[in-house]
Amino acid sequence: MTSVVERLRGDRTAFSVEFFPPRDEADEAILWRSVRELEGYDPAYMSITYGAGGTSRDGTIRSIARVATETTLVPMAHLTAVNHSVAELRNVIGWYAAVGVRNILALRGDPPGDPYGEWIPHPDGLNYAEELVELVRSLGDFCVGVSAFPYGHPRSADLDADTKYLVRKLNAGADFAIAQLFFEADDFLRLRDRVAATGCEAMVIPGIMPLTTPRTLRKTIELSGAQAPRWLLDRLEPLSGDAKAFRAEGLDVVTELGERLIAEGVPDLHFYTFNRSKATRELITRLNLVPARVPPG
Ligand SMILES: Cc1cc2nc3c(=O)[nH]c(=O)nc-3n(C[C@H](O)[C@H](O)[C@H](O)COP(=O)(O)OP(=O)(O)OC[C@H]3O[C@@H](n4cnc5c(N)ncnc54)[C@H](O)[C@@H]3O)c2cc1C
Repeated sequence: MTSVVERLRGDRTAFSVEFFPPRDEADEAILWRSVRELEGYDPAYMSITYGAGGTSRDGTIRSIARVATETTLVPMAHLTAVNHSVAELRNVIGWYAAVGVRNILALRGDPPGDPYGEWIPHPDGLNYAEELVELVRSLGDFCVGVSAFPYGHPRSADLDADTKYLVRKLNAGADFAIAQLFFEADDFLRLRDRVAATGCEAMVIPGIMPLTTPRTLRKTIELSGAQAPRWLLDRLEPLSGDAKAFRAEGLDVVTELGERLIAEGVPDLHFYTFNRSKATRELITRLNLVPARVPPG
């Protein structure tokens, strides 16, 4: 099974896609239609997020197993330490390995119900993503990624502390980091520079949200943990009542962001797809990220 790092070794910027586990049969159908629509575009890898509770966690394991066994995609499974003992984490990692998943995004996760609430570790569990990176690496030949935060993680005291712990988890055995959502290319590039300035050579990958609706804009602002710049709100907010115009302008904004990041030599654009493929397909086409062998149309 190919690793994410092997897939990102080329000279050109690649693209990858992120999904969440389906909640019901209707969700499942949407997810699989999108997976099949994107498969022919040959994304570098496809990831599935890991939820806070039982059913959603089963959904991640089931779906990623299906990706590994029934598609040509390179699967990456997310895993968090939330409400898990070390024994349970070992079990999940064992499941991933058993179905052929070699790539894991190792995360601490948020307290269920309140992402800004106090972190309470499982009595037999882990405290930080760094420990999960070490655990995954100790259990087999995995390619491991971690998360990074262009504006700093909401719980970090300042950017210096944030960078210190990010680099610690990379040095603990992670091969790359995927960045949380951000608004301007420079916000991401400053994060990349902070990591590089420590001497750490791990890849840092930007996370990209197709801004197709006011909801995706709100979600981007919420997840980024920062205030949206005035120029962005001025471009999109007046179009809130016109779905078509909002989508067109939103995709222009994301195309401009992607062009700048590609010019800066990022290895990969990681798209948060919300389990739909249309906007991502449009963006990768506009950004010339579609491999030559994919027929047009
Ligand atoms: C690309 C991406 C994908 C994600 N996927 C998921 C998902 O699938 N499921 C999900 O639930 N959540 C997901 N998240 C959200 C993530 O779980 C939360 O943001 C969580 O709050 C932080 O996780 P982390 O792995 O960055 O934590 P950590 O790296 O452990 O950091 C948490 C905080 O502790 C600090 N810290 C780290 N180590 C130490 C130390 N040794 N001593 C003191 N302080 C320390 C850090 O600076 C930071 O402030 C994702 C985030 C991103 C960016």
